[in-house]
Amino acid sequence: MAQIMFDWQNIDTVLLDMDGTLLDLHFDTFFWLEHLPLRYAQIHSMNVDEARSWLHERIIQQQGSLNWYCLDFWTDELNIPVAELKKEVADKIAFRPHVKDFLATLKQEGIRTVIVTNAHQDSLSLKIEKTGLNQLVDDVICSHDFGLAKETSGFWDKLQKVEPFNKERTLLVDDSFAVLQSAREYGIRYLLSIFQPDSQQPKREINDFTAIDHFNEITPK
Ligand SMILES: [Mg+2]
Repeated sequence: MAQIMFDWQNIDTVLLDMDGTLLDLHFDTFFWLEHLPLRYAQIHSMNVDEARSWLHERIIQQQGSLNWYCLDFWTDELNIPVAELKKEVADKIAFRPHVKDFLATLKQEGIRTVIVTNAHQDSLSLKIEKTGLNQLVDDVICSHDFGLAKETSGFWDKLQKVEPFNKERTLLVDDSFAVLQSAREYGIRYLLSIFQPDSQQPKREINDFTAIDHFNEITPK
């Protein structure tokens, strides 16, 4: 296990992404690439493979925008109840390894923990219902409330207004390179990525950011 040394004395806030960072991205991948096409095909009496490629094209067009994460957008766009369909496969929602211990240790150490997610409110509440994640951190912030995705440069100023943090003493952990890049430009000092956000997909090669496999590599001792 690679151990990354953080000087935890210099960090008083940890901003945490949810999907692919605290929770296994497999649920989301499975939902968008498998379950949604299947149910879409059933509902619209289509062939599943046709539905899959048609949906993939539409989904990719919205990547990185708030729409991409917005269940209301997809419900309107596709004319199917996306939030309802998510519930059908909710048993796949799972923590990534060592997350609960990591969050418990930060709490003991008096380090503020805030989930900052692009997930839509309906998706967020389903995940909270399944995991109790909100009980393990100090606050949960949803980017839809600001009308800006985390990838957008103006996002971090908006976050400062509701959740003040010292950029020099803050760690952001996020599996999205676009989000890490936007945080780097804003000036957040400590940035960390995740090698394998989806447990069922191969590990990624990461050059631009420091990354971990699991949170036990950085949990304060
Ligand atoms: Mg993520």
